Amino acid sequence: MARKTDRFSDLKQSLGTKTSSSAATKKCTCCEEDKKFNEYYKVFSPLFKDDLFPTCKMCIKDLVDTSSSLSIYDMLRRMDRPFIVEKWDEVKEKSPESDSLFGLYLKSISAVTQLSLTWEDSMFPDDDDAENIADLNRRWSGFTYTEKMILEEMYQEMLGSYDSSSPIQRDIYKNICVARHKSNIAIAKNNSTDFERFRKVISSLMNDAKIKPVQETGFDENSTATFGQFIEKVENERPIPEATGEFKDADGIKKYINKWFTKQMQRALDLRTKNDDIEEKIKDGES
Ligand SMILES: [Zn+2]
Repeated sequence: MARKTDRFSDLKQSLGTKTSSSAATKKCTCCEEDKKFNEYYKVFSPLFKDDLFPTCKMCIKDLVDTSSSLSIYDMLRRMDRPFIVEKWDEVKEKSPESDSLFGLYLKSISAVTQLSLTWEDSMFPDDDDAENIADLNRRWSGFTYTEKMILEEMYQEMLGSYDSSSPIQRDIYKNICVARHKSNIAIAKNNSTDFERFRKVISSLMNDAKIKPVQETGFDENSTATFGQFIEKVENERPIPEATGEFKDADGIKKYINKWFTKQMQRALDLRTKNDDIEEKIKDGES
C-alpha cells in the first residue's frame, strides 16, 4: 500500500531514472534496482547498519517458497528473525490464499515486544521437521538453500542405493555429492578442465567407498543390472512362498499336464503310438 502513496517516485523508477534524493533509496542486492526504504524489511542486526535487509521485499517474496518450511527457515535465518510456529499458523489461517504469506508473517512478528527476538528464539513445530532442517543445515552447512536441496536429494539417492552402514561411507557419499554437484556446474559452464577434475575426484571417492556405478547392493528396479542380479534380488527380498492347497501336489500336477496336455499333443502331432501308451502303463505298474 505504501508504494502507491508516492506515485511520482514510482513512475520515475519505472522510467529507470534515479530519484533526486539518493538518501531515500537503497539498491537491492538481488534485482539491483534503487528502491525506497519502505520497500525493504526492517532487521535489527549489527550486520546491517541502516537496519534494512539488503534484499527488497519483492525479491524476497519471489525467493521464498512458502510451501516449503525449509525455504522459510532459510530466509528467516538470513534475516535473523525468528520462526514462531504459532504465529505462522495464525497468519496462514487468516489468509490461506495470500501470495505474500512471508511478508504478512514478518509483519505479525514486528510488534515492539518481539523486535528483540532473533533466529535463536525460533519455535519450531513438534514434528521431525525441525530436526530434518537441523540435519540438513549441519550436513550441508555453507551451501545455499537451493544447493542444500540438490545435495540432499543426491545424498538420499545414494543412501537408498548403496550400503551406508558406516559413518566413513556416509562421509564419502557426502563428498561424492558435492563433487557431483560441482562437476554439474562445471559442465553447465562449459568448463571442461574443472569437469575432468571433479570427475576424477568422484571416481577416486567411489573407489574409496568400494562402490562402482553399478553395484549389486545398489541394484533397484530402475537401474541397469544383469538379469542374474535381478533374480538374486527377487529371491532375497521376495522369495516364492510355499505352495498352498491344491498346488502342494506337484506330482499330481505333473500327471495332469502329462495326461491332458503332453500326451494329447504328442498324439495330434503323430509323435505317440498305442504302443507307447501300453509301455508306459507297464512301467507305471498299471494294468
Ligand atoms: Zn529487489
